[in-house]
Amino acid sequence: MKSEQTKIPQATAKRLPLYYRFLENLQASGKQRVSSTELSEAVKVDSATIRRDFSYFGALGKKGYGYNVNYLLSFFRKTLDQDELTKVILVGVGNLGTAFLNYNFSKNNNTEIVMAFDVDQEKVGKDIGGVTIYHLEQLTELIDPEVTVAILTVPALAAQKIADQLVQSGIKGILNFTPARLDVPEEVRVHHIDLSVELQALVYFLKHYPV
Ligand code: ATP
Repeated sequence: MKSEQTKIPQATAKRLPLYYRFLENLQASGKQRVSSTELSEAVKVDSATIRRDFSYFGALGKKGYGYNVNYLLSFFRKTLDQDELTKVILVGVGNLGTAFLNYNFSKNNNTEIVMAFDVDQEKVGKDIGGVTIYHLEQLTELIDPEVTVAILTVPALAAQKIADQLVQSGIKGILNFTPARLDVPEEVRVHHIDLSVELQALVYFLKHYPV
């Protein structure tokens, strides 16, 4: 994100991609404006939070009119650097890693996995979804200095060691899909997505807090 926009609170910034995706769909369907109530129902964020979030972008919805879809989209595109392609790497081409390579993210936004790494000789040298898999030993030598984000889909036990290597190679952001809690220097950001914990939490909430 650009430096002049760093004043947006982190919680707001985290919701931007959600808003962005929904607004893109609205624009594609030809809609010009949207109310905070409509947005709220679609993205499941309460409308007071949406209004507060949008006020940070200088987008003040008019009563009875709502927000201008094109204005919001162009703002988000700039804020989320959607005009530029953000290249990321992936480490660990197991089941989950393979799924990400096939999915790649370029279909939905301007983020693309450009290289993958693994230690399994059977996988090294192969292409999945157009992405070549290299040996992890080659990380430092091959990584493009522009790349600062890595997706981690390795076994939990290998995660910390690989995170250290990633940091040494200039990675500043790690999307951690392993159950391991990573120790990284202050300037490195880790977003942790533990799919089994999320699933368990959902099951628990459904059981104990039915909607
Ligand atoms: P698979 O069925 O291919 O083993 P999986 O998702 O069940 O997939 P995991 O054991 O979670 O397998 O491993 C995920 C991937 O991480 C595998 O491709 C494995 O080769 C790779 N891997 C394991 N250790 C390391 C490591 N130290 N560095 C990089 N990749 C690793």
